[in-house]
Amino acid sequence: MTKMNKINGLWVPAHANVVNHTHLDCVLRHRDVVRFAAQAGFETFKEPFPELTVKLWRDAELLAKTGLITDRSLIARLQRRAVSAYREDCFQRGGDLTAYVAAIANQLVPLMQTVENIKLFTEHYIQDLVSDHTIGAQIRFAPHLHIFGGLSLEAVVEAVAEVTANAPIPIKLILCALRGPEGEAKAKEAREVADLCIKYSAQVGAMDLAGAEALWGGIPEWWWVEALRAREASGGQCGITLHLGEVQPATAAEIQKLKDNGVFVVGHFLHNDDDELYQECCPHSNLTLTAHPCLTSGQFRCHPVGRKLEEKQRVMLSTDGTTLIKTSMRMQMALGRRAFGWTAKDLRQLSLNAVNGGFYNEADKKNMRKQLKLAYGQK
Ligand SMILES: [Zn+2]
Repeated sequence: MTKMNKINGLWVPAHANVVNHTHLDCVLRHRDVVRFAAQAGFETFKEPFPELTVKLWRDAELLAKTGLITDRSLIARLQRRAVSAYREDCFQRGGDLTAYVAAIANQLVPLMQTVENIKLFTEHYIQDLVSDHTIGAQIRFAPHLHIFGGLSLEAVVEAVAEVTANAPIPIKLILCALRGPEGEAKAKEAREVADLCIKYSAQVGAMDLAGAEALWGGIPEWWWVEALRAREASGGQCGITLHLGEVQPATAAEIQKLKDNGVFVVGHFLHNDDDELYQECCPHSNLTLTAHPCLTSGQFRCHPVGRKLEEKQRVMLSTDGTTLIKTSMRMQMALGRRAFGWTAKDLRQLSLNAVNGGFYNEADKKNMRKQLKLAYGQK
């Protein structure tokens, strides 16, 4: 666990940053995934684990059962290699959206069906955030993806909230409904997510819309009416955000509709430009998934976040996920320094945009601004 040395009660890590856009089911540690998958039985997953991972982990198990105590280091080595083979497999999936989605749906999500596991994954992710010098975060998830093992929607939210409430950094939850074909099923899902947002509005910062934008783009009415209801019924405590312009441009009418209704922040917005909306940019995620034709070279410098920041658009950096995307906030900040010549002032601005475009409590926002000032100076 990273040591959090404080100055006047505030933690000021050298590379302080704020992560507003990250999905809980995309940030599991590879070691946890392999360990839990082994417990559940590798063969029970619809999406197969790499053969090398399975073989090495099973060898390690066999040694643990039958071997002598002197084999401890060998067991640890086999496990490390099993995990690293899985990590490689995860990072290779980025080039293929089908393989990427299959890993989330059929390897990661199935492990997130018990309170115990959900809590552990959340705890470990918070430790990873702190190691990455993150001073505040918004963690999002779709409660409906975690009820296949019999958990109630409430139990899912409470499991995450219990851990985040005790985190060493301020954390807000964002609850997602998932894009899909219009109909009663989606209307019900949005209604239930809105109800959760209202019930847990002390912990939930906003209601989000995530999922396959290429198939079901825009601002669907079934989601919109419920997001508005959640905001109103929570007395404005639970805001509204959505993934938009990630794989295709949002229309001018859609952008206007958001602004007219007080929505001030959107996820990605890679295909659009705007001077007012806060934009949760996730460069490595976009590059991994080649979410825009301009990113085919795979070069960080091709991502529009550099240009947008220069134009004073309200952009921020986020990871989106770390299990299938080879990234961290510190990696992206370092690459931005190299690719765009970002200075301390720029890095501070990116995180300030995250604070201002985030759903944190006012007192937490105030502290985060102070932390950023101390970390990057007053330039
Ligand atoms: Zn996302």
